[in-house]
Amino acid sequence: MNHNGIEFDTYFKNYPDADGYFGKYGGAYISEDLKRAMAEITEAYFTICKSSKFISELRRIRKDFQGRPTPVSHLERLSNKLGNVQLYVKREDLNHTGAHKLNHCMGEALLAKYMGKKKVIAETGAGQHGVALATAAAYFGLECDIYMGSVDIKKQAPNVARMKILGANVVEVTHGLATLKEAVDAAFDAYTKEYKDAIYCIGSVLGPHPFPMMVRDFQSVVGIEAREQFIGMTGELPDAVVACVGGGSNAMGMFSGFLNDPVDIYGVEPLGRGTALGDHAASLTYGSEGIMHGFNSIMLKDENGEPAPVYSVASGLDYPSSGPEHAFLHDCGRVKYDVVDDEETIDAFFTLSRLEGIIPAIESSHAVAYGMKLAQKMKRGSILICLSGRGDKDMDYIIEKYGIR
Ligand SMILES: *Cc1c(COP(=O)(O)O)cnc(C)c1O
Repeated sequence: MNHNGIEFDTYFKNYPDADGYFGKYGGAYISEDLKRAMAEITEAYFTICKSSKFISELRRIRKDFQGRPTPVSHLERLSNKLGNVQLYVKREDLNHTGAHKLNHCMGEALLAKYMGKKKVIAETGAGQHGVALATAAAYFGLECDIYMGSVDIKKQAPNVARMKILGANVVEVTHGLATLKEAVDAAFDAYTKEYKDAIYCIGSVLGPHPFPMMVRDFQSVVGIEAREQFIGMTGELPDAVVACVGGGSNAMGMFSGFLNDPVDIYGVEPLGRGTALGDHAASLTYGSEGIMHGFNSIMLKDENGEPAPVYSVASGLDYPSSGPEHAFLHDCGRVKYDVVDDEETIDAFFTLSRLEGIIPAIESSHAVAYGMKLAQKMKRGSILICLSGRGDKDMDYIIEKYGIR
């Protein structure tokens, strides 16, 4: 399929190119030391991902440890309530640890093992990536250092406890604002010193090449499974596919299964409290081209051109940019990016819980909210939504802030 001059039949062969570019986005804007480390990871990945031993081990892990394939569920009561459009969800909430993140963490940790590394390093904000990586490290017997700002350590006590129970070393970062940005810098610094024995594991389709490609490839299991399951259930393709976009890993995993199909694809960004800078994290919708954290993409900038402060009710979506492949798919128009606000999201959270018996993560509730709006617009057809995770982690926050609706 050709879309605005991009050939999607051969898309995965051509994107990214050898330097990690999706069109003008991506690349590796990092120090020479880190470039050497990334080149080593790239080379290892290209060798290992073709090895039948690696592929069959990853397959076995997905089945026996993660519980894959996760099902696709038909949302019958919600569909009936909204009209004639049939809604379906891909149940990444049922993946081990309750979200899609383990799909790439198990891949990254298995790669670390094959490369003979002893340790995995990462930063975490809300703690979800830290928990997924700590899980993978425990499984493979790797050391695990998770950098986290002291402000986030206080806010995310249950996830800090999970990481520690899983045997990870949570490294407190106290300088500056002591949140995610400082944790990223500290983790990169540590990695620059330790890269001979350690591997840096990025939590989404972000960062320098090869991570946007590698994380997409590890997440593509979501889209491959969902496409086959959906066709098995209905005999046809969905008319639309929807996923929420923070960094963009669950969305890239889902979308990669459908890029070459006659299917409308929607990425949903958090509009938060509104359109003013600082009130949302809709980077693709309101941002512009820029380089941060080692890659070129579309980002939200402050008046000095630095990453702007962002806000979302979902802590997994509050990042001032998205992966370079999303920026590329945005510009060429293959994926449409749109927004839903906090209010619509919380409404979808309660609606899905009440009508279907599925409590979604607040991140995933953005995709559900958009799917519900789209269903009312479309009048007929079917929509497949990526339910990236379960809402257990959000219970205390929802009860405190919104009560029971
Ligand atoms: C982290 C997270 C997200 C956002 O990350 P992406 O890389 O954009 O997928 C979405 N949903 C859940 C449940 C998460 O934990």
